[in-house]
Amino acid sequence: MKEWEKNIRVIAPYVPGEQPKDKNIIKLNTNENPYPPAPGVITAVREFDTDMLRLYPDTEASLLTEKLAEFYGLEQENFFVGVGSDDVLSVAFQTFFNSDMPIYFPDITYSFYKVWADMYRIPYECKKLDDDYNIVKEDYYKENGGVIFPNPNAPTAVLMPLDGVEDIIRHNQDVIVIVDEAYIDFGGESAVSLLEKYENLLVVQTFSKARSMAGMRIGYAMGSKRLISAMNDVKFSINSYTMNLPSIIIGASAVSDRQYFEDTLAKIVNTRENAKSRFKELGFTFTDSKANFIFVSHKKYRAKDIFEYLKSKNIFVRYFGTERVDNYLRITIGTDEQMDKLFEALEEYID
Ligand code: PMP
Repeated sequence: MKEWEKNIRVIAPYVPGEQPKDKNIIKLNTNENPYPPAPGVITAVREFDTDMLRLYPDTEASLLTEKLAEFYGLEQENFFVGVGSDDVLSVAFQTFFNSDMPIYFPDITYSFYKVWADMYRIPYECKKLDDDYNIVKEDYYKENGGVIFPNPNAPTAVLMPLDGVEDIIRHNQDVIVIVDEAYIDFGGESAVSLLEKYENLLVVQTFSKARSMAGMRIGYAMGSKRLISAMNDVKFSINSYTMNLPSIIIGASAVSDRQYFEDTLAKIVNTRENAKSRFKELGFTFTDSKANFIFVSHKKYRAKDIFEYLKSKNIFVRYFGTERVDNYLRITIGTDEQMDKLFEALEEYID
């Protein structure tokens, strides 16, 4: 090793799902929405004034936080926006997890949490999900440096009812509790309603899933003014202009269309519930998903083999191959037509 190499940061990075260049594949591997963004987005893109690109964007993304505040019945000062919820979560880790005590999160969960903890040198402890992949809330009662979990959890798709979420927050009022609600709109009850009661709660959501805008990179956190202002101080200590102008304007235009948002969600939930029956007919077992993906396993066939087979048929799903979930596939809910193709291929494989 050369002398200067000793100063290079060595870290195992987060590995995102594949984004194949080929447009002819059925892409069910990264939990994107199969439907286009709200019609207002198309108008906003067409009418975008490119001359505005000369200027730096509004560091507070006020246009966007104004729309979000209207949508959730909160104030603009309750919102922090960033480049996808990954950016928001990363700032939250840096802002809130500064204790010598370990932070707690589930053993099977969004694998980025471990990467951020390593990156920012935050001690952490993983709490084992039970055999049905539920979060065991009592495991989070002990003194800790902070708590984070997704609800529904990923990749398990299991939802914790709101009273369970509140129980964890109630037992952790001396630290910050982050609920990552990337998938909440597909069938869960958001912890946003608890914000008034708990000043130490941060709820994080994204435009990438329910709002069909993964490519735009918009995420947001909702919390007390105290928490949001602390996140802004950290953000302004790294990069003031994280959100670009098109994202602010186009993102704002997406929030207003509540009807389109609800209609798209209803379609995905309907497809998901049909998919559950079809997976069952084929002998798969799965958790009762409340997200836009299903976490499935088969007693007779290895997940890895199914994954490879589907890939050979140009159908991409996600296989993790990690401890406790190595015989599981995470399959994003696509359109009805895409799901028909998936089941045709699975039937063929199983026959
Ligand atoms: N949280 C969870 C649980 C996720 O699965 C994802 C998607 N990879 C994210 C956060 C980040 O999504 P985004 O950065 O697109 O908002």
